[in-house]
Amino acid sequence: MLQNFERYPLTFGPTPIEKLDRLSEYLGGKVEIYAKREDCNSGLAFGGNKLRKLEYIIPDAIASNADTLVSIGGVQSNHTRMVAAVAAKIGMKCLLVQEDWVPYENAVYDQVGNILLSRIMGAEVRLVDDGFNIGIRSSWERALDDVKQMGGRPYAIPAGASVHKYGGLGYVSFAEEVRAQEKQLGFAFDYIVVCTVTGSTQAGMVVGFAKDGRQRNVIGIDASATPLQAQSQVLNIARQTAKFVELGREIANDDVVLLADYAHPRYGIPSEETNEAIRLCARLEGIITDPVYEGKSMQGMIDLISKGFFPKGSRLLFAHLGGVPAINAYSDTFRNG
Ligand code: PLP
Repeated sequence: MLQNFERYPLTFGPTPIEKLDRLSEYLGGKVEIYAKREDCNSGLAFGGNKLRKLEYIIPDAIASNADTLVSIGGVQSNHTRMVAAVAAKIGMKCLLVQEDWVPYENAVYDQVGNILLSRIMGAEVRLVDDGFNIGIRSSWERALDDVKQMGGRPYAIPAGASVHKYGGLGYVSFAEEVRAQEKQLGFAFDYIVVCTVTGSTQAGMVVGFAKDGRQRNVIGIDASATPLQAQSQVLNIARQTAKFVELGREIANDDVVLLADYAHPRYGIPSEETNEAIRLCARLEGIITDPVYEGKSMQGMIDLISKGFFPKGSRLLFAHLGGVPAINAYSDTFRNG
């Protein structure tokens, strides 16, 4: 039962569901596309999916008597921006390890977008040379030790707030929210499309939608380009979360659907198809997606619709999880629109 867990409110409340009429029409009108606007979920530093997760993690941080949130991500991590915002909001210090997850050429990549916002919010930003990996990193463990050595009380939040005992709860709450909204809309969604990297967003959804047997209709689009690791991380988090919320059923391997075709060429680097999907969605709907995350899940959804993956008449819910500040670090890509 989700109600058994304490929640520290960081979001405005239920996020809006918006119908994307022009995109649906453009893609042949055989399916109806809706977007759940998790990108507009809060006034904290542009919001995004991590806030839903952090709502269930922050009570534990406060109870632990910590004074510093310590987290990790890439240089343009949305997650670390959100941790910096939450630290400011609750009056804690913040130490962020920003690893070299993306080989970049843009001269201002490490100065604009997410990292700029984290610096403005007062986080200590530590740039580290290590490459992409969604696992637990030694640089992060070192940062936790450093805070202790300086007499501080660190609270550890892993990459994407995922491999944390409460990391999956936020997106169980997403499923409950969608069910309540479906009652008002008078129909249920046939598929939920979600971008996956560190895994707890999809894991929470899988558990949340398993309640009414829809877990295999959560279509994960991998953006990590390490899909086997991502798949097993989703599965582990889903299993742990299912126990926590007393789901009353096991999560099977097949309950995690993760499609690997859209992450190329690598994490953080968009393909030309990703950039085309970003432009298409922006030009038809005025909705901005980014080259790291939702640009890839948007590309995946568009491709799957074109291939007839979703039966005619399906209603799709695209989870827009945020991430737009990173677009500033890709100014070269969109120099000509
Ligand atoms: N979309 C955005 C904007 C993100 O910041 C992230 C974070 O990694 C994701 C999607 C993927 O979510 P998760 O890491 O929970 O798989």
